[in-house]
Amino acid sequence: MSGKRRWGKRKENSKELQYGYIESDMAEYCSKCSPFGGEFDIDLFKIALKIENGRSESFICEGCNIRAVYKDEVGNVYLARLENKEIKLHPVVIEDLMH
Ligand SMILES: [Zn+2]
Repeated sequence: MSGKRRWGKRKENSKELQYGYIESDMAEYCSKCSPFGGEFDIDLFKIALKIENGRSESFICEGCNIRAVYKDEVGNVYLARLENKEIKLHPVVIEDLMH
């Protein structure tokens, strides 16, 4: 997760602006939706592997509005996604995050 790459810009109408999470004008993409093939800032698979049960890791993906990876107490993995200003949890199989 470099955070220093500059290939990408927020869209004019992007909702992220009003949430004020991002200070610079660079966009970050996760491994699921990166338009740059093998290049991405947020590696969902790696994050899902490393977090412990009951924990989550937050980030901002500007491509698909995923805001966090969450692992529940028994190890089920969820993607937390911003939808209509609400965070919704989507269960995923960790293997599906491989790229
Ligand atoms: Zn994404």
